[in-house]
Amino acid sequence: MQVEHLDEEHIEKILSELEDYQISHGSLLKIPRTLADCESVVAVARPIGVSIVPTIFPRHLFYHALDIQTLFNELYIKLSEDESFIQSIIQRLGEADGFAAKLWSIWEHVREEGEVQRLRCGIFRSDYMIHHDGSNSRGKEVTAEDYMLQCLMGSELKQVEFNTYSCAGATHANVVANMHRYLAGKGIHKALHLPTNNAIRSIVEALQCAHREYGLPADPNRETAILMTVQPNNVNICDERPIEYALSECEPPITLYRVEFGNEIMRTCSLAPNRELLFRPDAESKAIEISIVYQRAGYEPHEYDQQGIDARYMLERSRAIKCPTILSHLAGLKKVQQELASPGVLERLVPPEAVSVLRQTFVPQYPFDTSQEGIRAREIASDKHKAENHVLKPSLEGGGNNIYDQDIPDFLRAIPEEQWSRFVLMEKIHPPLTHGILISPIDTHKGPVICELGVLGTGLWRRNEQGGEKVRIIGNTTAGWTFKTKPEDVQEMSVVKGYGCFDCPSLL
Ligand code: ADP
Ligand code: MG
Repeated sequence: MQVEHLDEEHIEKILSELEDYQISHGSLLKIPRTLADCESVVAVARPIGVSIVPTIFPRHLFYHALDIQTLFNELYIKLSEDESFIQSIIQRLGEADGFAAKLWSIWEHVREEGEVQRLRCGIFRSDYMIHHDGSNSRGKEVTAEDYMLQCLMGSELKQVEFNTYSCAGATHANVVANMHRYLAGKGIHKALHLPTNNAIRSIVEALQCAHREYGLPADPNRETAILMTVQPNNVNICDERPIEYALSECEPPITLYRVEFGNEIMRTCSLAPNRELLFRPDAESKAIEISIVYQRAGYEPHEYDQQGIDARYMLERSRAIKCPTILSHLAGLKKVQQELASPGVLERLVPPEAVSVLRQTFVPQYPFDTSQEGIRAREIASDKHKAENHVLKPSLEGGGNNIYDQDIPDFLRAIPEEQWSRFVLMEKIHPPLTHGILISPIDTHKGPVICELGVLGTGLWRRNEQGGEKVRIIGNTTAGWTFKTKPEDVQEMSVVKGYGCFDCPSLL
């Protein structure tokens, strides 16, 4: 169905159905209560931004992305145990990257003492856009027919980034996919070929499996549970809570506790003599032994004040399975992604048959160092003309950190050159544009849009200490997907921060 041909009456009908579905299924963002608000009746949530009709996406690229996820999982599982590789990255980032250096120093302390847990859990997300090299159509919206042609001919799948830490969006994506399948089923819109999404169930299964592998509590009188670290005043509880609720519905049920990163961890957690992680919801309650630390906080530098550092250190040295470990967290730095794209690096890490498959998804990326590539990066980044078509990225997560196109030269000139090593320079991906209608409580966008596919993956592995392979992989799965759409002129993508909307692909 061509969205530009929808009349107002039809749009209104879809909107009224969307609203009821979103409210009924928690497709919402929470409005945190302030103390003042508690006195009065106020809205506590609003629907999260969505595309009112699924956006067409090439079927072959969608399934290719799902197919290669286990290769990417395996690569990042291996990287997570390749300490010398990670260390070389940290050295290359240099002192300029205080955040990476801080995380690395926590790891050094853990390593010195020796780890007591060799099992690790990972929940990953590999993000892609379609790249179409039709340079004459760049930036221009094409007709629906041309868009479909571009999707089918000469389009490639290109990786935006690979996330290893606190991957969000699985629940929202799952609910919005279900919503569009429901709307299509009732003929409320006429979208075709909407794939199923099993993101929530897959993540729950991965946690359930890791919880089982953790085994019995050291003291038979203790219960075990999962601990989810969260950010304070969280607006995104509807993405996190359903995982907790689904775990409670498992047989046997698994309890998950939420704890704020930093101070609250220090107040409620402690280590037993054998470093079991003990959690007390309040001072009088019995200690609960934590099987898995599921990190949904601790990715922003401001979270690492002294309390934050102490909290992360306690979690890392504990016997709980970390989802993920600090090394796995560091493997997700954008600097690692850039290194992997350098000639010869991937070859050392994955079997030959995987090299070309993974490499095909990479776009050129450059470091700011003294190598030939580094010199090229400086040349591009200092010239407004050449910088156009590039993104400058620090190794940070959470959105809003990148510098785009012509802003790059002025940005770099304004900071000392010693700090440039913190950044990587990435060529831009150029997706074909299509027409979309995106709604959020802030505004409605009707016009050219770009979509982004995220493929979720889960892993469970054990680090071997003696001889043979360093890693034994116990679980490696593709775990559903996220699909987001944004107006063409928006650079960032973060639905929670208002940059884009959840959507469902209509497979072509
Ligand atoms: P973050 O950690 O902030 O999510 P990303 O690397 O995912 O960092 O970049 C944020 C957004 O910027 C992406 O979701 C995408 O929309 C856009 N973006 C990033 N890299 C590129 C690129 N090479 N080409 C085009 N857009 C990009
Ligand atoms: Mg991103």
